Amino acid sequence: MIKLLTFDLDNTLWSVDPIIARAENAMMEWIYKNQPELRFKVTTVQFEQYKDKLSTEQPHISHDLTQLRLTTLRKVLEGHVAGDVNSIVAKAYEVFQRERNIVQYFPYVLETLEELAEQFPLIALSNGNADVHKVGIGHLFKHHFSAASVGFAKPHPAMFQHALAAAKVAAHETIHIGDHPVQDIQAAKDIGMKTIWVNWMSQAWPLACKPDAVVNNFEDLPDAISSLTHQLETS
Ligand SMILES: [Mg+2]
Repeated sequence: MIKLLTFDLDNTLWSVDPIIARAENAMMEWIYKNQPELRFKVTTVQFEQYKDKLSTEQPHISHDLTQLRLTTLRKVLEGHVAGDVNSIVAKAYEVFQRERNIVQYFPYVLETLEELAEQFPLIALSNGNADVHKVGIGHLFKHHFSAASVGFAKPHPAMFQHALAAAKVAAHETIHIGDHPVQDIQAAKDIGMKTIWVNWMSQAWPLACKPDAVVNNFEDLPDAISSLTHQLETS
């Protein structure tokens, strides 16, 4: 019997790359507007390169995208700004975070989540730093765990285990729904959860282990969940 659904967020409920690009542009615009002398000294590309470098050099913060971005901002801006670098970093990050939480849902995502939330508790499990409340779906989720709040990013089992503990259900009573073959499907499968791969781009499945079901859109998700539930009950 299925008692819990866990959902990935980025690239499962919305496409994340356009959001990050828009949020970074808005943040850089704010920096240039408020620190015009930085216009020719600090670029978005530089910022990205530094973030990648920092992520490799400081793996202990690489799972915490907020911390990574704040540290990058501080390092890139240090020595260039006249005033208090921390206050500029905080304000620039606020601009990023506000834009980060303006998402465009894939078709039928909201309707489907509303329908599913009436039948199951839903828990969000994300490596990213979107805020379920700010993106307008907080009321549908019982809990939201992120890599930053748990201290480990998927595919590490910690986030899945937090969800199971919070809902007081066993792994085999849970379906995890996500887009990433390794971070979502393989990781959830490894701890004994059932899995549904959300394959918006109709890609070929790349791994040896298989998801329990695959959907190419959210309209098909309730049926996929029902037939998986039925299969489990009759097996
Ligand atoms: Mg994802």
